[in-house]
Amino acid sequence: MKLSTISSKKKLAILLSKLETFSNPKLHLEQYPTDPNIASELLWKAYLEGNISDKIIADLGAGTGILGIGALLLGSRKVFFVEKDNEAIEILRKNLQDFKVPGESFEIELMDISEFTEMVDTVVFNPPFGIQKKYSDRPFLEKSVEIGNAIYLIHNAGAEEYLVNFYENNGFKVEIFYRGKMLIRNQYFFHEREKQWINVILLKAIKEK
Ligand code: SAH
Repeated sequence: MKLSTISSKKKLAILLSKLETFSNPKLHLEQYPTDPNIASELLWKAYLEGNISDKIIADLGAGTGILGIGALLLGSRKVFFVEKDNEAIEILRKNLQDFKVPGESFEIELMDISEFTEMVDTVVFNPPFGIQKKYSDRPFLEKSVEIGNAIYLIHNAGAEEYLVNFYENNGFKVEIFYRGKMLIRNQYFFHEREKQWINVILLKAIKEK
């Protein structure tokens, strides 16, 4: 795979759909992969706004890597994949190999995101929505404002007001740039049904000078 030659949002989504996802998702970590179309929506916006190409990126709670790998495909200089689950990281490593991502363009940080301290240009993430454990997204929000200037994230639609308040109170300008549904095919969230559509938003927060 040649890096940074992707010409459309749709092509990016198709490439990202080839990535392997969690083989053994863990309930307490709320591991569910971002849908490739939504990941592409998020990354393409950040890319058009100049926050991906040649930038240093943090992918918080990287899981199997869809957001960070997508950023690399769009020409990021370096991506920090921060993830505390070793099994997810094994799949991430395989995905990086399959996509022939050069070793110097990423670092894998096996740790809790609260321990990560590198300053970056752009932060991307799809946090635990706090369905299993209330406020489990909070450390992600706090870390993002600590380390980044441009932040792009996915969250459930019900969290909109709380997210807007959080980022504005921290001196960021906020835009909700996408509202839609994401299919979560999951084993564990919804016992009666195997899959469920949930309403999600994509939010951008830019630090005010
Ligand atoms: N970014 C991936 C995975 C999203 S699921 C994607 O978009 O597909 C959320 C991920 O955050 C899971 O992989 C989970 O293991 C990880 N995670 C949850 N809490 C974490 C924490 N405190 N520190 C580091 N990783 C965490």
